[in-house]
Amino acid sequence: MNLTTYITEPAGLQSFYEAIVATNETYAPVEKLGKFDYKQIKTPPECQPDSPIEQTMSIKPLFFPKSARVMKYEATAEGTDVTDTTEDPLAGKRVILGVKHCDARGLQVLDEVYKWDYIDTDYQKRRENTIIISARCEQAATHCFCTSLDYDVEQSDAMDVAVINGLDGKVYIQARTEKGEHFLKENASGLAATNGSALEEMKKQYQAFSGSFRLKMDYKEINGKMQSRFESPAFEEVATNCVSCNTCAFVCPTCHCFKITDERIRDEGVRYKSYDSCNNIYFTLMAGGHNPRPAKYRRWRQRAMHKFVYYKERFGVNLCVGCGKCTISCPVNISIFEVVNQVSNV
Ligand code: SF4
Ligand code: SF4
Repeated sequence: MNLTTYITEPAGLQSFYEAIVATNETYAPVEKLGKFDYKQIKTPPECQPDSPIEQTMSIKPLFFPKSARVMKYEATAEGTDVTDTTEDPLAGKRVILGVKHCDARGLQVLDEVYKWDYIDTDYQKRRENTIIISARCEQAATHCFCTSLDYDVEQSDAMDVAVINGLDGKVYIQARTEKGEHFLKENASGLAATNGSALEEMKKQYQAFSGSFRLKMDYKEINGKMQSRFESPAFEEVATNCVSCNTCAFVCPTCHCFKITDERIRDEGVRYKSYDSCNNIYFTLMAGGHNPRPAKYRRWRQRAMHKFVYYKERFGVNLCVGCGKCTISCPVNISIFEVVNQVSNV
């Protein structure tokens, strides 16, 4: 299928956003206390589609909520009755504006695990019903390293529609998937389709963007070296500083550990599904009291090896998209970029 690129200018982009918000359930980065989180919006001025990456939370919770009630139940001597299963508030057709390229890629990485041995139908439905429109990533932030990883940031089809700045105030709106093409046919009336010269211009813009990265790594080299670094002393060094707060996993677009907890008062109970982390000492604690990862360095090793060795072996992609969110949020300044480079060399 031919995918169309449209050309406009900032005012046209604003009108495009306004038309989307008027006719679709729309989410976008909304500022609160200096941070941006994706919220449902009713008018475009409420949001900032090009919010700064370092202050912007991931879109992951719109597909995999931080904590959600799975059901309510009543347990008596006669048996257990489920009294309420909550309707999924994220299952409807919707559009997300202002999604960073790395964050959109995070969903493609998560798709692998969600379509693996157990099909999570809630996740699948949320994915199918969502149109993702990217932010205009123009400049790498301090901890970004997305261009060093195993996906083509320039041509990425992780978003359905890409918004890209051109020269002289031009803005390109480009379909990247079939779903995006159909969406634009319905929502970009009034914008003009453009041609090959636009692609050349976008290429130049991308070259300027990729030249702005401070952090660069050779992921193939890292994947190869880490396979033989299971006993690296660098894991102990990192773990010594880690306070096991789990923040790195909670903010990460690709981490997907969760726990199921029951809160019960007498006969009535509520079951929740909430984020967890392999950095949590209780994550692998078994019913008999045995814990295969009792030491912090083993848990950190699991985190790093899962991201750069095990997931890659199983699904062919790294469980990291180079967004830098974990580093920005870590209270003791641990950088995954530095850790995997350090482990690869010790
Ligand atoms: S591990 Fe860190 S850099 Fe990699 S995707 Fe997760 S939050 Fe982003
Ligand atoms: S955010 Fe930092 S301190 Fe907290 S668990 Fe992750 S690495 Fe450890």
